[in-house]
Amino acid sequence: MHQVAWQRELFRIAVILGAGLAAGTSFGFPLWGLLAGLVVSQVIMLRNLGALYRWSHKAGPAPQDNGLVGYSADTMFRRERDLNRTVKIQRRQLKRISQGIESLQDGVLIIDGSGYITTFNRAVCHLLGLRTESDMGQHITNLIRAPKFTKYFDKGDYSQPLEFDAPHKSNMVVQAQITGFGLDQKVIIVRDVTERQRVETMRQNFIADVSHELRTPLTVISGYLEMMQDLDLPSPVARAVGQMHGQSGRMRSLVDDLLHLSKLESDSEMNHQWFSLFPLCSAVVDQLRAYAPAGDENLTAKISLHCERDISLLGSEDELNSVLTNLITNAIKYGRKPDQPAIIDVRVVQVNNGLEISVSDKGPGIPAQHLANLTERFYRVDDSRESTLGGSGLGLSIVKFALDHHGAELRIQSSPLGSRFSFVIPSERVQ
Ligand code: ADP
Repeated sequence: MHQVAWQRELFRIAVILGAGLAAGTSFGFPLWGLLAGLVVSQVIMLRNLGALYRWSHKAGPAPQDNGLVGYSADTMFRRERDLNRTVKIQRRQLKRISQGIESLQDGVLIIDGSGYITTFNRAVCHLLGLRTESDMGQHITNLIRAPKFTKYFDKGDYSQPLEFDAPHKSNMVVQAQITGFGLDQKVIIVRDVTERQRVETMRQNFIADVSHELRTPLTVISGYLEMMQDLDLPSPVARAVGQMHGQSGRMRSLVDDLLHLSKLESDSEMNHQWFSLFPLCSAVVDQLRAYAPAGDENLTAKISLHCERDISLLGSEDELNSVLTNLITNAIKYGRKPDQPAIIDVRVVQVNNGLEISVSDKGPGIPAQHLANLTERFYRVDDSRESTLGGSGLGLSIVKFALDHHGAELRIQSSPLGSRFSFVIPSERVQ
């Protein structure tokens, strides 16, 4: 099509120049005639361009030309029409998306790279107490004045959602999940988790109450069974009493673990203090050097400890004690070859992002498919074997919760040559 326009344009110029030359020649001034033709063709071109300019600024009708200018005007017209159509479709889509976001029960809040609010839906007003007009453009931490949220926001690690008390309504708990998008914008999804929290608290209280109530009767039963073991009983009865004593001991340790776990679930990090790591590690290791797995009482473990003496940690000494005790006890119970004592290495080393504490053993290892589930409550790799070793399946859940309180995560590596349980206490908690 544009070739035709070019041909027409060139034809028009040629005709005008030819007419000018012919007229000039007939008067004896061919060059002047050619020049006059050039001027005329330029004037026509300028007139058309002027019309195109006015039309493109919406100040006049479209140029009536069948040459290049007319062709350009036509192309521009078509493009504008297509563009308008696309804009209309996109506007409709945008409207539909905005309506969808507006009708969500979850709050959606968008902030720019510096943390200033650019958009939010109506649900945010209910969940966080924002007001539609006046709060637009404010900094997020000026409006969500919950210290827990500010800390989470400033830290910049949004891999896990945050639950916190809604700043404007007592008894309301909300969850915020931040995700980055575009260059440096962020979308914050806020949802009401009050009911879920209430059920979770009920569950924790129920477990804590039941465990607490079971503790006294179990202690009494255990005491009587222990007493009966000293009596001169017929051998079948003595065996039954021995088994009952063993099982009541298991139940007591299960109840203790449940109580411990529910305490960890409800505890905050408020009581964290600086304490020296070496005395804690050596006390736990010394205590467990005398511990042997059930049924193999003469096979006490060989435990080595590598830890510098002058390291201090910010945290709960009791919780760290429980973490080390659980990991080393597990290594003693499961991390050994049959009829051999466990060989365990407890190591504390400085790494890039903090202090790594690890417990390694030379046991048969854990099949890979179990590794992801080990920290679930009551999870055991081999139920029949492990129940004889006295485990409750709660040890690693306790470890996970205690480490959560210290900003650390349990890492488990295992092969048929042994297992390694490690975690890194972040640098800001280490001195
Ligand atoms: P338990 O109270 O039964 O010991 P844990 O939660 O401490 O429960 O451990 C869960 C399971 O993980 C154990 O039952 C055992 O199968 C496995 N496990 C833990 N530590 C080790 C280890 N060092 N070597 C092999 N298996 C292990």
